[in-house]
Amino acid sequence: MMIRMKEKTITKEDIFLKARMISEGVNLQISEDLSPEQYRSWILGKAANAEQVKIPEKLNFDDPESIIALFAEVNKTDISSDFRQEIIFDNNGLRAPVYPNKRSRLDFLIEGENVTVSEDGKSLVTGEFLKRLDWLDEKLSNGLPVSTVLPSMSAAIINVVFNLSCMNFNTNRGCRYCNLFANPISRKISMLPLDTLRLWAKYQGEAIKIAIDNGWRGILAISGGAFAPAQRGEYLERLTLVLDIIKEAIGDKMYDTLPMVYNHYPPEDFSDMYKWKELGINATSFDLEVMDDAYFAAICPGKVAYKPLSYLKKAQEYSVEVFGPLLGTISCVVMGIEPMSCLVEGFDERMSKGILPFPLVFHPEPGSAYEGFRNPTAEWIVEASEKMANSFMKYLLKWLKPAMDRAKETRGDIYEFSAGSTPTTRLSVVFDEIGIRLNKLLGGRSVSELMEGKKKK
Ligand code: SF4
Repeated sequence: MMIRMKEKTITKEDIFLKARMISEGVNLQISEDLSPEQYRSWILGKAANAEQVKIPEKLNFDDPESIIALFAEVNKTDISSDFRQEIIFDNNGLRAPVYPNKRSRLDFLIEGENVTVSEDGKSLVTGEFLKRLDWLDEKLSNGLPVSTVLPSMSAAIINVVFNLSCMNFNTNRGCRYCNLFANPISRKISMLPLDTLRLWAKYQGEAIKIAIDNGWRGILAISGGAFAPAQRGEYLERLTLVLDIIKEAIGDKMYDTLPMVYNHYPPEDFSDMYKWKELGINATSFDLEVMDDAYFAAICPGKVAYKPLSYLKKAQEYSVEVFGPLLGTISCVVMGIEPMSCLVEGFDERMSKGILPFPLVFHPEPGSAYEGFRNPTAEWIVEASEKMANSFMKYLLKWLKPAMDRAKETRGDIYEFSAGSTPTTRLSVVFDEIGIRLNKLLGGRSVSELMEGKKKK
């Protein structure tokens, strides 16, 4: 596969500004283009609406439709699938988040689809303010909006959720920064009945079909909260059930085209990964969250009760055998919780084994145990990102060929490493730093041309 470099000039100043937007947030300026509802939901977040909804003492699992309807109700102001949470810088395509913070010195003015970020009256950057996708308001067959069953979707990812609650969160052992299943419905679910899961999967299938019909092409991430110990043995049956329904909804051809990453607990028996492969999965993301064992135990008390961090690392190494290195075996990491040296050394060690960590900056969510804790500073984010980008470049050539060969065996086009096309997100600047380095390394060549030893243009 040929990957062409797209010309983009990312500067250190742009990266620092993005890091500031992640760290400090932005002071939203009232504008005609921002409706009062939008402003309110941004400021208050989803927790506010959830608290206003009347939740029955006991959920009626004999009527699974009522459970899905309640989910829709508590998530009415959930903006996790709202593309307006990020902007794209005009000059180089960097993506940055929009975290409202009245105390931020960065003013954020919206005019139509354009945004200006300024400080003390001086414009620092202009950008595009992505419109909410109209089709998220289209209706499923039960009359509820598509957004109800696509939590935290983006242009790149749809989460295929195969457990609607998290046992760790419900037993006060949730990961300290996480609020994914903090809603009052999930809190009442300890073991999700199969009938409710089947119905949820049916609506997720309908929603993914609508997304695809509207041009969405991204990665399906198989995720969900932690199972209760008594239910863990059923995980493969549940996974198969959900994926079969999704496949039926979108058709075999499309199902075989979309990349699919398993983003949940590692299995008791690593050889299950070969069964996942048969189901169509072609990558794993066993999220380490932090690199240090002791921090892991403190920050993810529920996860560590299942397995220590070393087990997740072994599972990742097994995954490199099954799904290949780099984008075949990724791992989300929260940066800004543990000391920089742990993070950076851990990143280097994982890269040396072919595992690609995805560092996302710590941003404790409302409703999580760490709500209100401070984010790392922009300086910290940039320094750590530069060090991790160095490690990435150190190991890239070692792993690129086996990774590309493996990708060809599966769904080829998940490979996107070039100067203008790294798997960056709005919450991370590591891959933007990597973009700068790739620019120098490639010098106008494609990655394939680099592998063939062609000279810089
Ligand atoms: S990150 Fe932790 S708390 Fe959040 S859903 Fe996963 S296991 Fe539960």
